[in-house]
Amino acid sequence: MDLKGKNCLVTGGSRGIGKSIALTLAKLGANVAITYARSVDAAKEVVNEIEALGVKGISFQADAVKFDRAEEVIGEIVEKWGSLDVLVNNAGITKDNLILRMDEQAWDDVITTNLKSIFNYSKAATKPMMRARGGSVINISSVVGISGNAGQSNYAASKAGIIGFTKSFAKELASRNIRANVVAPGYILTEMTGNLNEKVLEAIKQETPLGRAGEPEEISNVVAFLASDLSSYITGEVIRVDGGMAM
Ligand code: NDP
Repeated sequence: MDLKGKNCLVTGGSRGIGKSIALTLAKLGANVAITYARSVDAAKEVVNEIEALGVKGISFQADAVKFDRAEEVIGEIVEKWGSLDVLVNNAGITKDNLILRMDEQAWDDVITTNLKSIFNYSKAATKPMMRARGGSVINISSVVGISGNAGQSNYAASKAGIIGFTKSFAKELASRNIRANVVAPGYILTEMTGNLNEKVLEAIKQETPLGRAGEPEEISNVVAFLASDLSSYITGEVIRVDGGMAM
C-alpha cells in the first residue's frame, strides 16, 4: 500500500484508534492532520511521531460538534497542503446508561459528538474533494450500531446513523469519484474500553469467535486500505473488524 502524496485528516487523532490510524497513514507516506478535543500534549506527541516518519503533520484543537470549526480546519489544511484527499471521521465518545436512567444530556452529547460531527467534516470536505476530482471518506462506526447493545442506546443510535449517512453520502458523491465507507470495530483495547470491569470484558471475549480483543492497528490497517487506491471500486460498504463478534 502506498499513500505517498495524499493529504489526510483524522478526527480524534490524539489517542486510541485515531492515533493508530494517523500513524499508519503516515507510515505509508501520507501527510496527516489530526484534531482533538482536550489532549494538547498527546496531540503534540502524535504530530512529532508523524513528522519523525518524514511526512507533514499538524494538529488542531477542534470540538467535532462545531460545524464552523470543521470548515476552518479543512480550509487551513487545503491552504497549507493544497488538497484534502482522505478524511477519517473517528472522534467519538460513550455515555452509557439504561434508557430508564439515561438523561437528555447523555443522549444529546453522544448523538452530536458521534453523528453530527460526521456531517460537519464530511460536508466541509466535499468541495475540496470535488475540486481535486476525488477523495476517500472513512467513517468509524461500531458493531454496536449493527447489533444494538443494552446500556448503549445513544451510542448505538449514533453509530447506526453513521451507516445510513455514509451510504447516502456515497450515493450523492460517487459521480465525483468521492468514495465513502464505514469501518465497524468490535471490542478494541483503548482508553474508551479501559474502564470496563473484568466480568464485562470476559463476556465480550466469549462473544467474540476469535476469542480476544482487537488492537488499534487491526482497525488502522483496514482504514489504510480504504484510504488507498487499492480500494478504488469500493464505496458505501460497511466492513466489520470485530473478530467475528457481529457475525
Ligand atoms: P478514545 O476515547 O481512546 O479516543 C477518543 C478520541 O476522540 C480522542 O482523540 C479524543 O480527543 C477525541 N474526541 C472525543 N470527543 C471529541 C470532540 N468532541 N471533538 C474532537 N475530538 C474528540 O476512543 P477510541 O480510540 O476507543 O475510539 C475511537 C473511535 O472508535 C470512536 O468513534 C469509537 O466510538 C470507535 N469505536 C471504538 C471501539 C473500541 O472498542 N475502543 C469499538 C467500536 C468503535 P481528546 O484526546 O482530546 O479527548
